[in-house]
Amino acid sequence: MRRIAIVGAGLAGFSAGRELRRLGFDGDLTVIGAEPHRPYRRPPLSKEHLLADDDLTLRGADEIGATWMLGRAATGLDLERRAVLVGEAAVAFDGLVIATGLRAKTLREGADLPGVHVLRGLDDARGLRRELGAGPRTVVVGGGFIGSETAATLRGLGLEVTLVTGTPVLRSVLGAEAGAIAEARHREHGVTIRTGRVTGVSGTGRVERVHLDDGRTVPADLVVAALGSEPETEWLRGTGLGGEGGVIVGPDGLAAPGIAAAGDVARWPHPLHSGRTLRIEHYANAAEQGAHAARALLGRTSRYAPLPNFWSHLYGRRLQALGFTGADCDSRLVAREPGHRFIAEYRLRGRLVGVAAAGFASALPEYRRRIAAELA
Ligand SMILES: Cc1cc2nc3c(=O)[nH]c(=O)nc-3n(C[C@H](O)[C@H](O)[C@H](O)COP(=O)(O)OP(=O)(O)OC[C@H]3O[C@@H](n4cnc5c(N)ncnc54)[C@H](O)[C@@H]3O)c2cc1C
Repeated sequence: MRRIAIVGAGLAGFSAGRELRRLGFDGDLTVIGAEPHRPYRRPPLSKEHLLADDDLTLRGADEIGATWMLGRAATGLDLERRAVLVGEAAVAFDGLVIATGLRAKTLREGADLPGVHVLRGLDDARGLRRELGAGPRTVVVGGGFIGSETAATLRGLGLEVTLVTGTPVLRSVLGAEAGAIAEARHREHGVTIRTGRVTGVSGTGRVERVHLDDGRTVPADLVVAALGSEPETEWLRGTGLGGEGGVIVGPDGLAAPGIAAAGDVARWPHPLHSGRTLRIEHYANAAEQGAHAARALLGRTSRYAPLPNFWSHLYGRRLQALGFTGADCDSRLVAREPGHRFIAEYRLRGRLVGVAAAGFASALPEYRRRIAAELA
Protein backbone atom coordinates (compact mmCIF):
# COMPACT_ATOMS: atom_id res chain seq x y z
CA MET A 1 0.00 0.00 0.00
CA ARG A 2 1.71 3.19 -1.21
CA ARG A 3 -0.98 5.88 -1.16
CA ILE A 4 -3.42 6.42 1.67
CA ALA A 5 -6.07 9.13 1.65
CA ILE A 6 -7.85 10.24 4.80
CA VAL A 7 -11.09 12.16 4.33
CA GLY A 8 -11.89 14.27 7.39
CA ALA A 9 -9.21 16.27 9.20
CA GLY A 10 -10.76 15.82 12.63
CA LEU A 11 -9.59 13.76 15.57
CA ALA A 12 -10.32 10.35 14.01
CA GLY A 13 -8.59 11.26 10.75
CA PHE A 14 -5.58 12.69 12.54
CA SER A 15 -5.35 9.72 14.85
CA ALA A 16 -5.40 7.38 11.82
CA GLY A 17 -2.59 9.32 10.16
CA ARG A 18 -0.47 9.32 13.30
CA GLU A 19 -0.92 5.59 13.81
CA LEU A 20 -0.09 4.83 10.16
CA ARG A 21 3.26 6.59 10.57
CA ARG A 22 3.87 5.02 13.96
CA LEU A 23 3.42 1.60 12.37
CA GLY A 24 5.98 2.46 9.72
CA PHE A 25 3.80 3.38 6.74
CA ASP A 26 6.16 5.51 4.63
CA GLY A 27 4.05 6.04 1.51
CA ASP A 28 2.04 9.10 0.47
CA LEU A 29 -0.49 10.31 2.97
CA THR A 30 -3.10 12.89 1.96
CA VAL A 31 -5.56 14.39 4.41
CA ILE A 32 -8.60 16.12 2.94
CA GLY A 33 -10.53 18.38 5.31
CA ALA A 34 -13.61 20.50 4.62
CA GLU A 35 -12.73 22.98 7.36
CA PRO A 36 -9.78 25.33 6.84
CA HIS A 37 -8.30 24.26 10.19
CA ARG A 38 -5.74 21.67 11.21
CA PRO A 39 -7.28 19.01 13.52
CA TYR A 40 -8.48 20.52 16.76
CA ARG A 41 -10.32 19.56 19.95
CA ARG A 42 -14.07 19.93 19.58
CA PRO A 43 -15.32 19.37 23.17
CA PRO A 44 -14.35 22.87 24.43
CA LEU A 45 -16.60 24.47 21.78
CA SER A 46 -19.68 24.29 24.00
CA LYS A 47 -17.67 24.95 27.16
CA GLU A 48 -14.68 27.22 27.79
CA HIS A 49 -14.16 28.12 24.16
CA LEU A 50 -17.33 30.23 24.27
CA LEU A 51 -15.59 32.34 26.89
CA ALA A 52 -12.13 32.74 25.33
CA ASP A 53 -10.44 32.04 22.02
CA ASP A 54 -7.93 29.42 23.24
CA ASP A 55 -5.82 27.45 20.79
CA LEU A 56 -7.52 24.06 20.40
CA THR A 57 -5.15 22.65 17.76
CA LEU A 58 -4.14 19.05 18.34
CA ARG A 59 -0.39 18.72 18.64
CA GLY A 60 1.61 16.65 16.17
CA ALA A 61 -0.23 17.30 12.89
CA ASP A 62 2.94 18.75 11.35
CA GLU A 63 4.85 15.63 12.23
CA ILE A 64 2.87 13.03 10.28
CA GLY A 65 4.36 13.99 6.92
CA ALA A 66 1.00 14.41 5.19
CA THR A 67 -0.18 16.54 2.31
CA TRP A 68 -3.00 18.58 3.83
CA MET A 69 -5.83 19.62 1.53
CA LEU A 70 -7.72 21.89 3.91
CA GLY A 71 -10.80 23.97 3.26
CA ARG A 72 -11.67 21.44 0.54
CA ALA A 73 -14.52 18.98 0.92
CA ALA A 74 -14.49 15.61 -0.77
CA THR A 75 -17.37 15.67 -3.22
CA GLY A 76 -17.42 12.05 -4.29
CA LEU A 77 -15.76 8.66 -4.21
CA ASP A 78 -14.95 6.76 -7.39
CA LEU A 79 -14.62 3.14 -6.30
CA GLU A 80 -13.62 1.90 -9.73
CA ARG A 81 -10.73 4.34 -10.12
CA ARG A 82 -10.04 4.20 -6.38
CA ALA A 83 -10.00 7.97 -6.11
CA VAL A 84 -11.51 10.59 -3.82
CA LEU A 85 -13.05 13.41 -5.83
CA VAL A 86 -12.43 16.92 -4.55
CA GLY A 87 -14.28 19.13 -7.00
CA GLU A 88 -12.38 18.75 -10.27
CA ALA A 89 -9.41 17.06 -8.60
CA ALA A 90 -9.02 13.35 -7.92
CA VAL A 91 -6.86 11.93 -5.15
CA ALA A 92 -5.93 8.33 -6.02
CA PHE A 93 -5.51 5.90 -3.16
CA ASP A 94 -4.67 2.31 -2.36
CA GLY A 95 -6.12 2.72 1.12
CA LEU A 96 -8.79 5.10 2.38
CA VAL A 97 -9.94 6.22 5.83
CA ILE A 98 -13.41 7.74 6.01
CA ALA A 99 -13.53 10.09 9.01
CA THR A 100 -15.98 12.81 8.08
CA GLY A 101 -17.81 12.98 11.39
CA LEU A 102 -21.23 14.54 11.73
CA ARG A 103 -23.14 17.55 10.54
CA ALA A 104 -25.37 19.51 12.92
CA LYS A 105 -29.08 19.31 12.18
CA THR A 106 -30.67 22.68 11.56
CA LEU A 107 -34.07 24.19 12.25
CA ARG A 108 -36.65 23.53 9.60
CA GLU A 109 -37.70 27.19 9.36
CA GLY A 110 -35.59 30.29 9.77
CA ALA A 111 -32.21 28.54 10.10
CA ASP A 112 -30.56 31.15 7.87
CA LEU A 113 -31.69 34.19 9.84
CA PRO A 114 -28.87 36.21 11.44
CA GLY A 115 -28.65 35.35 15.13
CA VAL A 116 -29.35 31.62 14.59
CA HIS A 117 -26.41 29.32 15.26
CA VAL A 118 -25.44 25.68 15.41
CA LEU A 119 -22.41 24.44 17.32
CA ARG A 120 -20.36 21.80 15.55
CA GLY A 121 -17.13 23.46 14.43
CA LEU A 122 -14.61 26.09 15.45
CA ASP A 123 -16.09 28.69 13.13
CA ASP A 124 -19.56 28.06 14.60
CA ALA A 125 -18.22 28.72 18.10
CA ARG A 126 -16.38 31.85 16.97
CA GLY A 127 -19.50 33.17 15.25
CA LEU A 128 -21.57 32.57 18.35
CA ARG A 129 -18.99 34.12 20.68
CA ARG A 130 -18.91 37.30 18.59
CA GLU A 131 -22.59 37.87 19.35
CA LEU A 132 -22.50 37.34 23.09
CA GLY A 133 -21.13 40.73 24.11
CA ALA A 134 -24.45 42.48 23.50
CA GLY A 135 -26.05 40.46 26.33
CA PRO A 136 -28.69 38.92 24.12
CA ARG A 137 -31.76 37.00 25.28
CA THR A 138 -30.64 33.55 24.29
CA VAL A 139 -32.71 30.51 23.47
CA VAL A 140 -31.00 27.14 23.28
CA VAL A 141 -33.08 24.54 21.44
CA GLY A 142 -32.34 20.95 22.44
CA GLY A 143 -31.70 19.34 25.81
CA GLY A 144 -28.93 16.89 24.86
CA PHE A 145 -25.31 17.27 25.93
CA ILE A 146 -24.44 20.12 23.59
CA GLY A 147 -27.62 22.08 24.34
CA SER A 148 -27.25 21.53 28.06
CA GLU A 149 -23.57 22.51 28.13
CA THR A 150 -24.16 25.55 25.95
CA ALA A 151 -27.02 26.75 28.16
CA ALA A 152 -24.82 26.39 31.24
CA THR A 153 -21.87 28.19 29.65
CA LEU A 154 -23.99 31.09 28.42
CA ARG A 155 -25.75 31.37 31.75
CA GLY A 156 -22.32 31.49 33.39
CA LEU A 157 -21.69 34.59 31.30
CA GLY A 158 -24.75 36.18 32.88
CA LEU A 159 -26.96 35.93 29.80
CA GLU A 160 -30.70 35.37 30.03
CA VAL A 161 -31.05 31.77 28.84
CA THR A 162 -34.14 29.75 27.94
CA LEU A 163 -33.64 26.07 27.16
CA VAL A 164 -36.41 24.64 25.00
CA THR A 165 -36.46 20.89 24.88
CA GLY A 166 -38.82 18.27 23.48
CA THR A 167 -37.87 15.68 26.10
CA PRO A 168 -36.59 16.45 29.61
CA VAL A 169 -32.98 17.66 29.75
CA LEU A 170 -30.40 14.88 29.15
CA ARG A 171 -33.04 12.17 29.62
CA SER A 172 -32.29 10.52 26.28
CA VAL A 173 -28.58 10.20 27.10
CA LEU A 174 -28.62 9.69 30.88
CA GLY A 175 -32.11 8.44 31.77
CA ALA A 176 -34.81 10.07 33.87
CA GLU A 177 -33.18 10.41 37.29
CA ALA A 178 -29.78 11.75 36.28
CA GLY A 179 -31.53 13.94 33.72
CA ALA A 180 -33.78 15.38 36.44
CA ILE A 181 -30.71 16.30 38.51
CA ALA A 182 -29.20 18.13 35.54
CA GLU A 183 -32.47 19.91 34.94
CA ALA A 184 -32.71 21.00 38.57
CA ARG A 185 -29.17 22.32 38.37
CA HIS A 186 -30.07 24.43 35.34
CA ARG A 187 -33.09 25.89 37.11
CA GLU A 188 -31.03 26.63 40.21
CA HIS A 189 -28.65 28.62 38.05
CA GLY A 190 -31.47 30.64 36.55
CA VAL A 191 -32.04 28.93 33.20
CA THR A 192 -35.70 28.95 32.17
CA ILE A 193 -36.74 25.54 30.88
CA ARG A 194 -39.61 25.20 28.43
CA THR A 195 -40.84 21.83 27.28
CA GLY A 196 -42.08 21.79 23.72
CA ARG A 197 -41.26 21.10 20.11
CA VAL A 198 -39.78 23.96 18.15
CA THR A 199 -41.15 24.35 14.63
CA GLY A 200 -38.92 27.25 13.59
CA VAL A 201 -37.80 30.79 14.26
CA SER A 202 -38.80 34.11 12.69
CA GLY A 203 -37.91 37.79 12.68
CA THR A 204 -37.44 40.75 10.38
CA GLY A 205 -33.85 40.80 9.22
CA ARG A 206 -32.77 38.93 12.35
CA VAL A 207 -34.18 36.29 14.66
CA GLU A 208 -36.78 37.68 17.09
CA ARG A 209 -38.77 34.68 18.28
CA VAL A 210 -38.85 30.91 18.51
CA HIS A 211 -42.07 29.12 17.58
CA LEU A 212 -43.36 26.07 19.44
CA ASP A 213 -45.80 23.59 17.93
CA ASP A 214 -48.54 24.49 20.42
CA GLY A 215 -48.56 28.08 19.16
CA ARG A 216 -46.44 29.58 21.94
CA THR A 217 -43.47 31.79 21.07
CA VAL A 218 -40.32 32.60 23.04
CA PRO A 219 -38.64 35.98 22.40
CA ALA A 220 -35.01 35.64 21.33
CA ASP A 221 -32.11 37.81 20.19
CA LEU A 222 -29.91 34.77 19.73
CA VAL A 223 -30.76 31.12 19.11
CA VAL A 224 -28.50 28.09 19.37
CA ALA A 225 -29.99 25.05 17.65
CA ALA A 226 -28.59 21.96 19.36
CA LEU A 227 -30.85 19.45 17.66
CA GLY A 228 -28.41 16.59 17.29
CA SER A 229 -26.36 15.62 14.28
CA GLU A 230 -26.31 13.28 11.33
CA PRO A 231 -23.43 11.42 9.69
CA GLU A 232 -21.57 13.38 7.02
CA THR A 233 -21.95 10.85 4.19
CA GLU A 234 -23.38 12.90 1.33
CA TRP A 235 -20.08 12.66 -0.60
CA LEU A 236 -20.39 8.84 -0.56
CA ARG A 237 -23.72 8.74 -2.37
CA GLY A 238 -23.92 6.07 -5.04
CA THR A 239 -21.13 3.98 -3.51
CA GLY A 240 -23.28 1.93 -1.15
CA LEU A 241 -20.93 2.83 1.70
CA GLY A 242 -22.71 5.63 3.47
CA GLY A 243 -26.33 5.58 4.50
CA GLU A 244 -28.19 7.85 6.84
CA GLY A 245 -27.04 5.80 9.78
CA GLY A 246 -23.34 6.19 8.99
CA VAL A 247 -20.66 4.09 7.32
CA ILE A 248 -20.97 0.47 8.38
CA VAL A 249 -17.70 -1.24 9.17
CA GLY A 250 -17.05 -4.80 10.29
CA PRO A 251 -15.34 -5.69 13.54
CA ASP A 252 -12.06 -5.42 11.57
CA GLY A 253 -12.70 -1.69 10.99
CA LEU A 254 -13.17 -2.08 7.22
CA ALA A 255 -16.18 -0.93 5.20
CA ALA A 256 -14.79 -2.53 2.00
CA PRO A 257 -11.40 -3.92 1.00
CA GLY A 258 -8.83 -1.18 1.63
CA ILE A 259 -11.47 1.22 2.99
CA ALA A 260 -11.79 1.86 6.72
CA ALA A 261 -14.03 4.26 8.64
CA ALA A 262 -13.62 5.73 12.08
CA GLY A 263 -15.01 8.20 14.60
CA ASP A 264 -18.47 9.72 14.75
CA VAL A 265 -19.34 8.66 11.19
CA ALA A 266 -18.61 4.94 11.67
CA ARG A 267 -21.25 2.40 12.64
CA TRP A 268 -20.24 -1.09 13.65
CA PRO A 269 -21.50 -4.13 15.54
CA HIS A 270 -20.38 -3.45 19.07
CA PRO A 271 -19.64 -6.81 20.70
CA LEU A 272 -20.38 -5.39 24.12
CA HIS A 273 -23.87 -4.30 23.11
CA SER A 274 -25.25 -7.62 21.86
CA GLY A 275 -23.50 -7.01 18.54
CA ARG A 276 -25.99 -4.26 17.67
CA THR A 277 -24.54 -1.75 15.22
CA LEU A 278 -24.01 1.63 16.75
CA ARG A 279 -22.08 4.83 16.40
CA ILE A 280 -20.26 6.32 19.36
CA GLU A 281 -20.11 10.11 19.27
CA HIS A 282 -17.36 10.55 21.86
CA TYR A 283 -13.92 12.03 21.77
CA ALA A 284 -12.09 9.00 23.16
CA ASN A 285 -13.71 6.73 20.59
CA ALA A 286 -12.66 8.97 17.70
CA ALA A 287 -9.05 8.79 18.88
CA GLU A 288 -9.07 5.02 19.46
CA GLN A 289 -11.06 4.08 16.37
CA GLY A 290 -8.90 6.27 14.13
CA ALA A 291 -5.87 4.26 15.24
CA HIS A 292 -7.84 1.04 14.76
CA ALA A 293 -8.65 2.08 11.16
CA ALA A 294 -4.95 2.58 10.48
CA ARG A 295 -4.14 -0.89 11.80
CA ALA A 296 -6.97 -2.34 9.71
CA LEU A 297 -5.59 -0.81 6.50
CA LEU A 298 -2.17 -2.23 7.21
CA GLY A 299 -3.63 -5.67 7.82
CA ARG A 300 -3.00 -5.63 11.55
CA THR A 301 -6.53 -6.43 12.57
CA SER A 302 -7.56 -6.55 16.15
CA ARG A 303 -10.87 -6.77 17.98
CA TYR A 304 -12.36 -3.34 18.51
CA ALA A 305 -14.57 -3.32 21.57
CA PRO A 306 -13.95 -0.13 23.51
CA LEU A 307 -15.86 0.67 26.64
CA PRO A 308 -17.53 3.96 25.66
CA ASN A 309 -16.41 6.78 27.88
CA PHE A 310 -17.23 10.46 27.84
CA TRP A 311 -17.46 13.50 30.01
CA SER A 312 -19.56 16.63 30.16
CA HIS A 313 -19.53 19.82 32.22
CA LEU A 314 -22.32 21.60 34.01
CA TYR A 315 -21.69 24.70 36.13
CA GLY A 316 -18.17 23.70 37.03
CA ARG A 317 -19.05 20.10 37.87
CA ARG A 318 -17.64 17.35 35.69
CA LEU A 319 -19.91 14.47 34.79
CA GLN A 320 -18.26 11.28 33.64
CA ALA A 321 -19.85 8.25 32.09
CA LEU A 322 -18.66 4.78 31.13
CA GLY A 323 -20.35 2.13 29.06
CA PHE A 324 -23.90 2.50 27.77
CA THR A 325 -26.16 5.03 29.48
CA GLY A 326 -28.92 5.71 26.96
CA ALA A 327 -32.65 5.83 27.54
CA ASP A 328 -32.96 2.18 26.41
CA CYS A 329 -31.25 1.10 29.66
CA ASP A 330 -32.89 0.77 33.07
CA SER A 331 -31.27 3.49 35.15
CA ARG A 332 -31.14 3.83 38.92
CA LEU A 333 -29.49 6.34 41.24
CA VAL A 334 -27.30 4.51 43.74
CA ALA A 335 -25.76 7.55 45.40
CA ARG A 336 -26.94 11.09 45.78
CA GLU A 337 -25.39 13.87 47.82
CA PRO A 338 -25.90 17.62 48.15
CA GLY A 339 -24.44 19.75 45.35
CA HIS A 340 -25.96 17.54 42.66
CA ARG A 341 -23.41 14.81 43.20
CA PHE A 342 -24.66 11.41 42.12
CA ILE A 343 -23.90 7.99 40.76
CA ALA A 344 -26.37 6.39 38.35
CA GLU A 345 -26.11 2.79 37.19
CA TYR A 346 -27.48 1.50 33.88
CA ARG A 347 -28.64 -2.05 33.19
CA LEU A 348 -29.76 -3.97 30.14
CA ARG A 349 -31.62 -7.22 30.83
CA GLY A 350 -30.23 -7.09 34.35
CA ARG A 351 -26.57 -6.69 33.34
CA LEU A 352 -24.64 -3.64 34.48
CA VAL A 353 -23.70 -1.88 31.21
CA GLY A 354 -22.96 1.69 32.23
CA VAL A 355 -22.45 4.27 34.94
CA ALA A 356 -22.64 8.06 35.12
CA ALA A 357 -21.15 9.98 38.01
CA ALA A 358 -20.89 13.61 38.99
CA GLY A 359 -18.55 14.42 41.88
CA PHE A 360 -17.71 10.74 42.49
CA ALA A 361 -14.68 10.36 40.22
CA SER A 362 -12.96 7.98 42.62
CA ALA A 363 -15.76 5.42 42.14
CA LEU A 364 -15.12 5.10 38.40
CA PRO A 365 -12.09 2.78 38.22
CA GLU A 366 -14.00 0.09 40.11
CA TYR A 367 -17.02 0.59 37.84
CA ARG A 368 -14.76 0.33 34.81
CA ARG A 369 -13.56 -3.04 36.05
CA ARG A 370 -17.06 -4.28 36.88
CA ILE A 371 -18.66 -3.17 33.60
CA ALA A 372 -15.81 -4.53 31.51
CA ALA A 373 -16.09 -7.87 33.33
CA GLU A 374 -19.86 -7.91 32.91
CA LEU A 375 -19.66 -7.19 29.19
CA ALA A 376 -16.66 -9.37 28.36
C1 LIG B 1 -19.73 21.14 20.74
C2 LIG B 1 -19.24 19.75 20.99
C3 LIG B 1 -18.92 19.33 22.28
C4 LIG B 1 -18.46 18.04 22.52
N1 LIG B 1 -18.16 17.67 23.80
C5 LIG B 1 -17.72 16.42 24.04
C6 LIG B 1 -17.37 16.01 25.35
O1 LIG B 1 -17.46 16.79 26.30
N2 LIG B 1 -16.93 14.74 25.54
C7 LIG B 1 -16.82 13.85 24.50
O2 LIG B 1 -16.42 12.69 24.73
N3 LIG B 1 -17.14 14.21 23.23
C8 LIG B 1 -17.59 15.46 22.99
N4 LIG B 1 -17.91 15.85 21.70
C9 LIG B 1 -17.81 14.84 20.62
C10 LIG B 1 -16.40 14.74 20.06
O3 LIG B 1 -15.85 16.01 19.84
C11 LIG B 1 -16.49 13.96 18.76
O4 LIG B 1 -16.88 12.64 19.10
C12 LIG B 1 -15.19 13.92 17.96
O5 LIG B 1 -14.78 15.21 17.62
C13 LIG B 1 -15.39 13.09 16.70
O6 LIG B 1 -14.24 13.14 15.92
P1 LIG B 1 -14.31 12.76 14.38
O7 LIG B 1 -12.92 12.95 13.89
O8 LIG B 1 -14.99 11.48 14.20
O9 LIG B 1 -15.28 13.85 13.72
P2 LIG B 1 -15.09 15.40 13.61
O10 LIG B 1 -14.33 15.92 14.77
O11 LIG B 1 -16.44 15.95 13.35
O12 LIG B 1 -14.19 15.59 12.30
C14 LIG B 1 -14.68 15.32 11.02
C15 LIG B 1 -14.06 16.30 10.05
O13 LIG B 1 -14.41 15.91 8.73
C16 LIG B 1 -14.71 17.05 7.98
N5 LIG B 1 -15.54 16.69 6.83
C17 LIG B 1 -16.87 16.45 6.80
N6 LIG B 1 -17.25 16.19 5.54
C18 LIG B 1 -16.15 16.24 4.77
C19 LIG B 1 -15.90 16.05 3.39
N7 LIG B 1 -16.89 15.74 2.52
N8 LIG B 1 -14.63 16.20 2.94
C20 LIG B 1 -13.63 16.51 3.79
N9 LIG B 1 -13.81 16.71 5.11
C21 LIG B 1 -15.06 16.57 5.59
C22 LIG B 1 -15.42 17.93 8.97
O14 LIG B 1 -15.43 19.26 8.53
C23 LIG B 1 -14.58 17.72 10.23
O15 LIG B 1 -13.53 18.62 10.27
C24 LIG B 1 -18.36 17.13 21.43
C25 LIG B 1 -18.70 17.54 20.14
C26 LIG B 1 -19.13 18.83 19.91
C27 LIG B 1 -19.49 19.25 18.51
